[in-house]
Amino acid sequence: MTDTAQSEAAQTMRAIVVEQLGAPDVMQVREGVPVPQPGPGQVRLKVEAVGINFADVLSVAGEYLTRTRVPYTPGMEFAGTVDALGEGVTGVQVGQLVACLGGSGSLATYAVAHAAALIPVPASLTAAQAAAFPVSYFTAYHGLKTLGYGQPGQWVWVQAGAGALGTASIQLAKAMGMNVVASASTEEKLELARKLGADVTLLQDDPDRVQKIRAAAASDTNSKGGVDLVLEVVGGPRFQESLDVVMNRGRVIVIGNASREQANLRPVELMKRNVTVTGLWLTSLMGDAEATRDAAMALTPLIASGQVTPQVGPTYALDESVRAFQDILDRKTTGKVVIEPQR
Ligand code: NDP
Repeated sequence: MTDTAQSEAAQTMRAIVVEQLGAPDVMQVREGVPVPQPGPGQVRLKVEAVGINFADVLSVAGEYLTRTRVPYTPGMEFAGTVDALGEGVTGVQVGQLVACLGGSGSLATYAVAHAAALIPVPASLTAAQAAAFPVSYFTAYHGLKTLGYGQPGQWVWVQAGAGALGTASIQLAKAMGMNVVASASTEEKLELARKLGADVTLLQDDPDRVQKIRAAAASDTNSKGGVDLVLEVVGGPRFQESLDVVMNRGRVIVIGNASREQANLRPVELMKRNVTVTGLWLTSLMGDAEATRDAAMALTPLIASGQVTPQVGPTYALDESVRAFQDILDRKTTGKVVIEPQR
């Protein structure tokens, strides 16, 4: 770290610490935590905004795809201003606003990250918008394009359409020229989905939802009797509906399991209409340099031109982290929940 940066840096900070896994109220605000020092190839960031994902809620609960080791500080995507550079870091300026994706530890006033993991933030985005971008938009791109093979004119069903991933998926699908059916739990959420361009919206508990989704796609003369693609995030007993609404040779991309219930899949059933079911986990796709580069190349101009805009939902102070997590679990939020540690 440079001498100048060191002399100006705070020595202690505030951070969320989780010592035992469970419901959101296991998160505690800790004062006097030593400010982390950037090692070789790392930078330290003054954390301005942390995007909270459903995955963070699952990690704190100990129900995520990877084991959560405690004690730890949650927070996997954030935006911050560069505060200090570790040895050997070039191409990043102190004071620059950057976004970062990966790992944990950003629910704090400072965090360190590998310089290679930093994402430049276009001047048109606020810190909160930058923190709302990486996970949702990269996942939406991979679901729609990399694994979903979405094409202009095709129909996609976006579940939880007013959530962080849902709003990103609707915007991106429309930018790709696709037709969107979006579902969500309230009329207010559906209004947001329509505002973002969803062609057809329906309540996720609508008793006729399967017929209505099929009918929406069937209204298109090119339709083969169902939607081309489903971005499946609810799971549990509802998973069957994704199989029921896709057309012959349709694709179901399994991205989440917000219901936290088990789904049944009888592989033989896929044969009837030649359905493809594909899993998607952004963490493992990030290791695919070509897929990540393709996504970045597609997303950067859309963000820079304002054609897609990260949807910042409710914002919270660090002290309100428990409420922020609980509001996601209670399905009260739209867009990306953002925590602002400097507040
Ligand atoms: P959201 O902002 O979309 O919040 C979660 C939403 O899921 C809620 O708003 C709610 O929408 C819906 N939901 C919650 N509980 C239930 C339930 N019991 N039954 C049905 N729906 C429920 O969160 P994210 O954008 O962070 O994540 C959305 C989903 O995508 C999650 O399942 C998450 O794990 C997954 N995801 C997966 C990634 C991957 O790499 N595989 C990356 C990013 C997200 P509503 O009230 O409208 O039903």
